Amino acid sequence: MQRVRLLLELKRLGIIRNDRVSTKAKSQLLKQPMVLQKLVEYTSFLHYDASPVERLHVVQQNIVTQPTCKACNGIVKMRTSGRYRATFPTYCSARCLSNQETVKEKRKATNLQRYGNPFAIASTVCREKAKQKWLENYGVDNPAKADVVKQKRKQMLLDR
Ligand SMILES: [Zn+2]
Repeated sequence: MQRVRLLLELKRLGIIRNDRVSTKAKSQLLKQPMVLQKLVEYTSFLHYDASPVERLHVVQQNIVTQPTCKACNGIVKMRTSGRYRATFPTYCSARCLSNQETVKEKRKATNLQRYGNPFAIASTVCREKAKQKWLENYGVDNPAKADVVKQKRKQMLLDR
C-alpha cells in the first residue's frame, strides 16, 4: 500500500513517467523534499548509500528487499552506467562470478572452441605467450629453469 501511494505521487509529479524514471528526476526530487524523504524511508531496506535516482528505480521495479550476491550473499549495488544501467548485478564481484560452476563450464567451452583445449593456459597460444614472457623477464622459457639457474649460481658462489 505504501509503495502504491508513493508510486502514485511520483507519477503525479512526473518523476516516474510511463513506467520509467524521468531523466530530470534528480532535480525534480530536490524540489520535493517531502517526497524525497518518503522515498528514502520506503527504500530503507537498501543496505548501502543509494542515490535518490537509484531509489526511484528500486520503487519503479517493485524491488522490496536488498538484492544480494548469488554466490556469497553480500550486498550488491545498482549499476549506474552501461548497458545494464539501473539493474542489480547477480554477483558482487568478478571473483564471485568466476567461481560459479556455470561460468567455469562456459569458459571451458569457449577455450575449447578457441584453442582446442578447455584450459587455455595449456593451449599452444597461451603457452607460447607465457614462454615469451619468461624469456623476456628471466632469459629462460619457464620459471622452474629460472630457479635452477639461480640455485646453480648460488652454489657456485658458495663453492668458491
Ligand atoms: Zn559475492
